[in-house]
Amino acid sequence: MSKIQLLPKAVANQIAAGEVIQRPASIVKELIENSIDANAKNIKLIVKDAGKESITVIDDGMGMDKEDIKKCFLRHSTSKLKVAEDLYKIKTMGFRGEALSSISSVAELRIKSKTKTCKIGNEIIIKNSKVLNEKKSDIQCGTILNIKNLFFNVPARRNFLKSNKVELRHIFDEFIKSALSNHNVNFILVNEEAEVFKLKESNLKRRIISIFNKNYEKKIIECKDKFESIRIKGYIGKPENSKKTRGEQFIFVNNRFIKNNYINHAIIKSYEGLIEEKKYPFYILFLDIDTSKVDINIHPTKTEIKFDDDKLIYSLVNSTIKKTIDKYNISQSINFNVDVNFLKEVVKNYDNKNNEARDIDRNISKKRKDWDEIFENIKSENKANFIFEEEDKTKNNIKPVQFLDKFIFKQLGEKLLVFNHKNCQQRIIYEKFKKNINKYTNTQQSLFPQYIELNKSDFEILKTIMDDIKSIGFDINYFGKNSVVINGIPAGINDINEIDLIEGFIEETKKNNNDLVSERRNQILKYFASKVKIINNKVLSESEMNLIIDKLFACENPKFTPEGKQNYIELGIEKVENLF
Ligand code: ADP
Ligand code: MG
Repeated sequence: MSKIQLLPKAVANQIAAGEVIQRPASIVKELIENSIDANAKNIKLIVKDAGKESITVIDDGMGMDKEDIKKCFLRHSTSKLKVAEDLYKIKTMGFRGEALSSISSVAELRIKSKTKTCKIGNEIIIKNSKVLNEKKSDIQCGTILNIKNLFFNVPARRNFLKSNKVELRHIFDEFIKSALSNHNVNFILVNEEAEVFKLKESNLKRRIISIFNKNYEKKIIECKDKFESIRIKGYIGKPENSKKTRGEQFIFVNNRFIKNNYINHAIIKSYEGLIEEKKYPFYILFLDIDTSKVDINIHPTKTEIKFDDDKLIYSLVNSTIKKTIDKYNISQSINFNVDVNFLKEVVKNYDNKNNEARDIDRNISKKRKDWDEIFENIKSENKANFIFEEEDKTKNNIKPVQFLDKFIFKQLGEKLLVFNHKNCQQRIIYEKFKKNINKYTNTQQSLFPQYIELNKSDFEILKTIMDDIKSIGFDINYFGKNSVVINGIPAGINDINEIDLIEGFIEETKKNNNDLVSERRNQILKYFASKVKIINNKVLSESEMNLIIDKLFACENPKFTPEGKQNYIELGIEKVENLF
């Protein structure tokens, strides 16, 4: 006798619901998405007992007529997808026709709705996927969806819910994501009768400020670029405003919030060396990609995505953020009125980077106009500064002062900067050698070659990094069994102990175990920069101090050491006054 039976509809729905509806916040997400798809201009969310008691979403969208209200909660019922090909050009948030059917199998659902063309609206109450009641309703055009008794028939799930505080946090998160990606819609969130958010339609920047707080105006930078394969826009946090928590990071692809470690990595990588370890930058990025080049139909919650060419997307996101940060760093440096020569060098570096990005986007040949414009601005600002400096020489002649062995104080423009000169030297050395890496021309021959004998296992490790060590400028060669000889060291470096360095390189390699050549070289270079100096004196002369400061500001990234420690702090007049 056959043992296989088709599951009853209600059971099948309940199983499916487990994937879409995990907690009250999942309902909030689905309902707001439906309102957005219905072209609502006003969306109001009301929650009680963190959504456990009730969730209501009121919208002024296109509404549903009597027939649609009766269909909308059936499984796989959707107005958004008609034929299979539509799957590859999805523009709406929903398309799987699963949300309302899933909700109706685990909660009590009351829908009131009216379209523009209907004279009167309709109301329906559904429980356990069955209609309990049906009647006319005198509501205005739009939809009111009310959900009560969530998981009344799945006690295990109900018990599994977290505290109200946690569930509410999830609800706020979903609400915020929708409000960010639909800044041209008015949103209201009411929790236990109190209005938590009231967001007027506005541009993205205003929306960010009204959600997070008004200080964000100063903390974020606009980020925008356009390539043939992708359009990137949004706001990223200034590196110095990074936080210890990573809550404020949002990626949207075609206006849909997604989770994607790969893109996240591309963004974080652009901040490398600019923020301290274990701190996270703010970002809200919108990527617009041809709908046929992404697949969002991977999971019912639609927060995962697959890109056709993820390497290309990675590079373009990474280079766009990098440029945005560079642009910001340059404008920061200009504020200091430092020796203007360094700007020329920065502009040169910048040019090279711009070329790199152009290579990456192999499809584009046309010049990026806005980018060139920025450049023109920087150049003209540079000129203006130059004239100013000529007229007012005294300003730049303010002498630096050394404090103890560690610090240099120097007034630059309106600010007093305190440099940690050991840190500064690290950054300078790191960038200098990074630029010349692989050129093998950076060697000064030693009068007395150094011989190093290693144990067998260290020697094996050294063999894997010989080229990396040479690439910095060491003249190092094999010399008999388990031994090497160092005939030359990188030029321009003081105070070097070759044996300690080589042993250090080996230890670093053991620790990091990196197969990627570029990553491994970078690691070795960072270690090198942290161990050597360009100026070795404890007491620095005035010209040595100025040299360090000028060279630091000629770096692409003057603020931090390669390991993310601060090179200098700024004391503005306000900060100093506040000390009294
Ligand atoms: P999907 O959004 O994937 O189509 P849902 O189960 O979320 O599936 O919704 C089913 C259908 O109900 C939608 O396709 C839409 O036609 C209708 N609907 C749901 N919510 C609303 C709303 N707020 N306004 C108008 N129509 C709605
Ligand atoms: Mg939907």
